[in-house]
Amino acid sequence: MNISKKNLDSFKQNNNNNTANNTANNNKKILIIITIPHAKCPNVQNRLHLCDFSAKANGEKLYSLLQNAKNPSILSEIIIGDIPRNVCDLNRFECRNNTVFRKRIRTIINENKKNKNIFLIDMHSYPNQDSFGKNADVVLLYKNKDGFSNHAVNLWNFLGRNTKESGIKIILIKGKDNDIIYEAQNILSTKSILIEFYEKLSENNINIILKQIVEWIQKKLPNLLIKL
Ligand SMILES: [Zn+2]
Repeated sequence: MNISKKNLDSFKQNNNNNTANNTANNNKKILIIITIPHAKCPNVQNRLHLCDFSAKANGEKLYSLLQNAKNPSILSEIIIGDIPRNVCDLNRFECRNNTVFRKRIRTIINENKKNKNIFLIDMHSYPNQDSFGKNADVVLLYKNKDGFSNHAVNLWNFLGRNTKESGIKIILIKGKDNDIIYEAQNILSTKSILIEFYEKLSENNINIILKQIVEWIQKKLPNLLIKL
């Protein structure tokens, strides 16, 4: 677990600056939007990672855990990418305005943002455990081009505390070029995080993490959406 003091200080600073822009409201329901931009694999696979092999299964599992929780205050939607990365990378600016997937995200946000507190979870997976340089099992993005995701830091702390015995290694990294969360945060005023899963993480460990994410959504997120 590795986040420098300097980064945490800037995070706190950023957090204070954001308080004034807060429009979330206590009485609204929460809408969780799960996006999986790299779900669609091309017909012919090659050695390039042209789709995320486990992101769709993990996203669908998270979606059904949220549905099964039957929490009347928490609604959920899942939006699954329909174009392979070699045709158009749905998580890049080039595909923001001209794809059904990205339009669907905007439509759902715009239809719901008046009446609900929206939180977007962009889900991915990676094939090599050293992709992020730290033998990580789960990776949360804490910094995008234009600022920190204080929600990611909070979730990272929560998962660290609640999955200690499992030995699952969860890290925070800086992100870049992730256009779905960029658009959500900077254009649509929607809080968001990006989560990456190692593709060889055991079924059991995936379930542990996903259940704890649902716990966090129910216990911590409602207040965070108002305060942060
Ligand atoms: Zn991906």
